[in-house]
Amino acid sequence: MLFSKFFAPTSRDTPADAKIASHILMLRSGMISQAASGIYYWLPLAVRVLDKISGIIHEEQERINSQKMYFTTIQPADLWQESGRYEAYGKEMLRLKDRKGGDFLYSPTNEEQATDVFRKYVKSYRGLPLCLYQIHWKFRDEIRPRFGVMRGREFLMKDAYSFDINFEGAKAAYMNMFRAYIKTFRRMGLTPIPVQADSGAIGGNMSHEFQILADTGESTLYYDKKLSTASDEELMIIFAVADEKYDPNTCPIPENELMVSKGIEVGHIFYFGTKYSKAMNVFVLDENGNKIYPEMGSYGIGVSRLIAAIIESSHDEKGIVWPEAVAPFDLTILNLHHKNEKCREVSQKIYDAINCNCCCSNASTKKEVLYDDREISVGEKLADADLIGIPWQILVGEKKIKNDIVELKNRKTGEVIEMSPEKIIGRFR
Ligand code: ATP
Ligand code: MG
Repeated sequence: MLFSKFFAPTSRDTPADAKIASHILMLRSGMISQAASGIYYWLPLAVRVLDKISGIIHEEQERINSQKMYFTTIQPADLWQESGRYEAYGKEMLRLKDRKGGDFLYSPTNEEQATDVFRKYVKSYRGLPLCLYQIHWKFRDEIRPRFGVMRGREFLMKDAYSFDINFEGAKAAYMNMFRAYIKTFRRMGLTPIPVQADSGAIGGNMSHEFQILADTGESTLYYDKKLSTASDEELMIIFAVADEKYDPNTCPIPENELMVSKGIEVGHIFYFGTKYSKAMNVFVLDENGNKIYPEMGSYGIGVSRLIAAIIESSHDEKGIVWPEAVAPFDLTILNLHHKNEKCREVSQKIYDAINCNCCCSNASTKKEVLYDDREISVGEKLADADLIGIPWQILVGEKKIKNDIVELKNRKTGEVIEMSPEKIIGRFR
């Protein structure tokens, strides 16, 4: 991609209404723009990151046989009347009427629809277990939207729904999802802290929230310091709770072994048994023709919130520092002196070589390159590159290029290595 053609409206100004680093940096780097309170346009740079995050989620969901589909964003109200949640959900639900006066709503979550899809097709125990998921927009009319996309009203969520024949099956599905979540967040360069949660509006009786440590988080976490060295299995049982779930009188961890930190909730998993299957009278027949109400769970990840959470945990005073797995591009080439012919020629050569679609590059290993060919000052280019936070920068400047040298800079460490253009090409191709 040529930066001169790329729609990333960066800005030097710190927006007045933005309070936390991720919100400021997402606005300044041209990732998002507010359309209304808690509702944002997602510009191309941000969509590239959303797609990377969604890609990782998809791979880890497929591994546990959770299958992607789409429920709908607009739902008929009658399903929610059946489950009893239409009134109970309250003002966070955006209610709509169609031209015939029918009641609809914009999905805040999809348990009812998942249960409805299940009952349309699965009539026998042979259809179990089943797990379906989507990555789709949600709307919740939050009382206090804030911190940009961290707490929006419209936001992108991954939501999965599992169906099992009995409690043992449901528990196994829950554990599989738990492990998949740990892997998913680790692949994004994050350290997830699973906290035992109560299940709030969705209702249930086994539940974990996945939190990311950040000073700007809305939750206060209390956890056993052993958590920092725990294996994935141990994470499931080590003590960790958030907010009002912490009670100093009943806390099993002595004070000197208890960590207290702020966290951002990026995922939430629930087991809620037969709550929806019974309410909506959804059952399958077992081998003997007996009715069995499937045991269900639901599993959310805040995909759009994750972008903000990743930036909160990975930035410096100059801008974003993307973990490689979710970066919008793998590397950026900065032609520092666009008027210099040699700089232009070498930058273009490196770009063409790394970006080429010939037989030697295949889609999975091919690097995504942003070539900054804009006719602007050195200072502006360097500042934008640090702001946008692509992991590797190739600097092509008029002095070094006389000796056939370009610089490779690591955005995270700031380390610069000099090498020939050929060597750079070899490294990234
Ligand atoms: P919160 O306590 O932050 O309101 P929740 O318990 O209401 O979250 P869930 O219903 O479990 O959230 O939704 C699953 C995930 O969706 C959450 O873990 C969070 O990452 C994300 N999420 C929830 N509400 C929002 C929002 N308003 N804006 C952005 N992401 C959200
Ligand atoms: Mg909420």
